[in-house]
Amino acid sequence: MLYSDYFIDDLKNRADLVRVIEPYTKLKKSGANWMGCCPFHDEKTPSFSVSPSKGLYKCFGCGKAGTVYNFVMEMEGLNFPEAIKRVAEIAGVPLPEPVDDQNYERAKKKREEKKQITDQIIELNNIALEFWEAELKKKNPKAKNAREYLKTRGISDETQQAFRIGFSPDSWDSLLSALREKGADETLIEQSGLVSQNEDKTKVFDRSPRKRLRRKTDRTKRPRLAKRRKNKGLRPFPRPDNVSGSRRERQPDRFRRPRDGR
Ligand SMILES: [Zn+2]
Repeated sequence: MLYSDYFIDDLKNRADLVRVIEPYTKLKKSGANWMGCCPFHDEKTPSFSVSPSKGLYKCFGCGKAGTVYNFVMEMEGLNFPEAIKRVAEIAGVPLPEPVDDQNYERAKKKREEKKQITDQIIELNNIALEFWEAELKKKNPKAKNAREYLKTRGISDETQQAFRIGFSPDSWDSLLSALREKGADETLIEQSGLVSQNEDKTKVFDRSPRKRLRRKTDRTKRPRLAKRRKNKGLRPFPRPDNVSGSRRERQPDRFRRPRDGR
């Protein structure tokens, strides 16, 4: 049985140490502290000091010192979990459901597994990133076209490197093959969101081959996970050959405000 560290700490702060100790010895206020005869050893002059603000007691005679839990444990012969219950009772604080050891271990294991998967997916994203960067440097006309486009947008080599801009070739499975070549696990590839599956789940393919040029790293220069790439980013590239001009020019009706029509 476990209580969270937070609860244990919070209860310690909420418990009135003076009220817990007073049944065992008379305490008198002295400055910020309270003084009394030590309940742990026999004495005539008070050398037992209680500091409610620090949540600590100390006897300058016998050296006994500690928190409200130590006091209750020592005085009533309780173990730590019993002391927590007793202090909660005195302080009138309801006890939370104790964390069951097994559940706690299970939850911990699950968290660790999840973290492992996340790390592996980040690694997959890294492979994808390198793949797209390599594609941008290739000699084929499409890659060349992409480099030209970057030039027209005024994106320098430094910026390209800093933002790790790459080129996703117009193919439904090139990234998938690259990931497989690196020995990536199929389930993990699907979980990564870098590829999609068709409806009857018989085929996997690269996701959004049209969204080619994008910033693929987050602020810490780690690859961004696929699900976080949804918004913002550069316009898909290249624009189909038969389309020119801005969207406002092509579809003026969509941008006309109602009062213009009057
Ligand atoms: Zn003492």
